[in-house]
Amino acid sequence: MPVIDSIAREFSECLNSGMVTNNSKYVCKFEQMLQEYLSSKIRPICFNNGEMALFHLIQAWKIKLGYDIYDSFDVLVPSFTFSGTVNAIVMNNLKPVFCDVDDTLTLDINKIDKIDKNIKMVVAVSVYGNLPDIDTIVQFADANKLALIFDNAPGFGSTYKEKYPNYYGYSEIYSFHATKIISSMEGGAAVVNDHEISSILKKLRDFGQYEKERGDIDTPGLNSKMQEISAIVGIKNLEKIDYIITEKKKNIRRYEDFFQNLEKEGNLKNMRVRNDVFCTYLYYPIILNEDATDFVTYLNQEDIACRRYYTAVHSLKLYRNKFMCDKRSTCSCSGYCQEEEGLKYTNSIKDRIVSLPIHTEMKKEEIEYLFNTCKKYFKD
Ligand SMILES: *Cc1c(COP(=O)(O)O)cnc(C)c1O
Repeated sequence: MPVIDSIAREFSECLNSGMVTNNSKYVCKFEQMLQEYLSSKIRPICFNNGEMALFHLIQAWKIKLGYDIYDSFDVLVPSFTFSGTVNAIVMNNLKPVFCDVDDTLTLDINKIDKIDKNIKMVVAVSVYGNLPDIDTIVQFADANKLALIFDNAPGFGSTYKEKYPNYYGYSEIYSFHATKIISSMEGGAAVVNDHEISSILKKLRDFGQYEKERGDIDTPGLNSKMQEISAIVGIKNLEKIDYIITEKKKNIRRYEDFFQNLEKEGNLKNMRVRNDVFCTYLYYPIILNEDATDFVTYLNQEDIACRRYYTAVHSLKLYRNKFMCDKRSTCSCSGYCQEEEGLKYTNSIKDRIVSLPIHTEMKKEEIEYLFNTCKKYFKD
């Protein structure tokens, strides 16, 4: 986070002018800087957070595809993600169809064999910033005439074949939450290649207003504008992006060396990163041989914060009760039911995966302490 002195002048300018929101100077500047960094054709559109950016991006595509507010269709989405991904689908009155992931922990498009006629959209996800096989997913979406959206919330700075994902025609979102690679405290952005989607998004984040004289609306948007103070913090952090990524890269190499050794010794498995992907590692995930409860307790006792993240969203209470039913043939969930059969890999890792802290300004001693603590755990 930037020190207060480095943002004091800009913030006090905002307060003095009263221009603290409504896409004023600093939100516009942040959007312009994002466009330069990501080399996107169209200027990114900032939101108050990543989930609202995704919610509105899905809504914009639903409108572009010609659907009305209460219409519904099915959306392919990996179960292995954050709840927010699926909430953004469901809150658009759309139905998630949970898909499996492969050992990159991202959508395994090869496992999808039949495309039901109700499926109109794919939402892919870059867990931990790891990117899926973008070329294959784009081909799949084109061949089946599906809208393609990318929840790239954790993946700022990650590249596929040395380009940012928007280069491949995706509509994507990023999160600038305090925990992510670039932070605006709370914040997010949609990066799209379609002018119609872009102009719908600008309305949606502003209540759906298409004109400001009477505030008339033609679609129900939710107020999800980024505040100026967030943009100011975002700008300060984006100015440091090269430092953030180059320094972090060094730590990533250290983690890869260390944990690949533990993998060779049979203690765990690492997430696979494709050769053509650079992953910025929001966290460093490891897949243990057994349930992660003991490992997490042990690390926490040793003062190392770690998270059971990401998770299998189909097994979270709401989605388990609504969509995953073990009495499929006799139950009354009116076509919402799904079978766990297609989610084998996800089910096999969901209780064994732990994400370890990794970031740019981690000291050498902190990394060594983490490594030694893991080593001790596996020795005992
Ligand atoms: C962080 C994250 C989100 C949510 O972003 P917010 O800015 O916190 O709303 C959504 N999806 C994924 C995959 C994330 O990692």
